[in-house]
Amino acid sequence: MDNLKFKDPIFVTRPLLPPIEEYNKRLQEIWDNKWLTNQGPLEREFQAKLKEKYGLKNIETFTNGHVSLEIALKALDLEGEVITTPFTFASTTQAIIGNNLTPVFADIDPYYYDLNPDNIEDLISDKTSAIVPVHVFGNPCELDKMAKIAKDYDLKLIYDAAHAFGVEVNGNSIFNYGDISMISFHATKVFNTIEGGALIFEDDKLIEKFKALKNFGITRDKEEVQYLGKNGKMNEFEAAMGLCNLDLVDDAIKERKLIYNKYLEELKDLEDEGILKMIKPQENTKPNYAYFTIKLNSEELKDYLFYKLPEYNLFVKRYFYPPCNEFPAYDFEKNTPIAQDVSYKILSLPIYAGLSLEAVGQICEIIKTEICNFNSKKF
Ligand SMILES: *Cc1c(COP(=O)(O)O)cnc(C)c1O
Repeated sequence: MDNLKFKDPIFVTRPLLPPIEEYNKRLQEIWDNKWLTNQGPLEREFQAKLKEKYGLKNIETFTNGHVSLEIALKALDLEGEVITTPFTFASTTQAIIGNNLTPVFADIDPYYYDLNPDNIEDLISDKTSAIVPVHVFGNPCELDKMAKIAKDYDLKLIYDAAHAFGVEVNGNSIFNYGDISMISFHATKVFNTIEGGALIFEDDKLIEKFKALKNFGITRDKEEVQYLGKNGKMNEFEAAMGLCNLDLVDDAIKERKLIYNKYLEELKDLEDEGILKMIKPQENTKPNYAYFTIKLNSEELKDYLFYKLPEYNLFVKRYFYPPCNEFPAYDFEKNTPIAQDVSYKILSLPIYAGLSLEAVGQICEIIKTEICNFNSKKF
């Protein structure tokens, strides 16, 4: 065991950080123009660069992904029930509840763990106003089926695309799908602005509404409080980080791809033996390799690895665990067996730019060794 133990702890992720000199140049701009927040020049430059680089429709940036999603739901004046997935981060469910809407959980698909469109129609009632799917781990939902259901039943479609920065489907940015897509630029994501988030949307009428909602509901033309707003503004330090990291993100995704493929290769035997399952990127997609997950064949084995691997200085994550309809804070029906099964058996392994392929090999050796130990203990 000692020869496989990491000297320094290895965590699931490490933030993308630019050379400090690059960030300092941007800080100098902030000091020169003395503009710290409220639609500053760096935020505007950041929005314009994102729009151009990814071929986006309209974009508005915010102080974090969660507030972006709350504001997206608010701007559409939704009422009643929203169909969503339980296999996501707490943010998705809480943005719905925070808007006085009731989440109705539909089960996921067993391959990519995304909201399964085939489970949606049975849950639509006359109270349903929207669908909020999540591109889990950056793997695109079934976009055409989602769009058709939304159209057939006259529902709004808002994607939580927090994991999907840089992902393309058939050459088009994933953010251009649905009425609105939310991105998170949190430190732990593929691309970060420290904290931050954005909404991508088609309808030009939402431009001024979003700008007002993120600034206490104050409209820019008349300077009147026209809505119940929030303080959701992105500040210039966040925008500065975004501008610096935009130069690095393509290379970071390339590095992630090598790591992802190394895991697929090293763990293939375990998959062939039915001990674990990995996700292979979808066809016609440009993936971002945001997460690498293994779904073990039993909860017992998952728990064993989760508590054992830290002895090697290796810290994996239960992500997402438990499913959102099992949070103690609420009393929801727990009728999504696939989400429960995945959530109880899944682990996220380390993946980030800067993680060496040698370290990935070592992680796989540790996992193989401990799976052997687990099996020999059992018999
Ligand atoms: C990170 C995340 C969010 C929230 O984004 P923040 O920027 O952290 O507020 C929402 N949904 C999902 C699926 C996420 O992973």
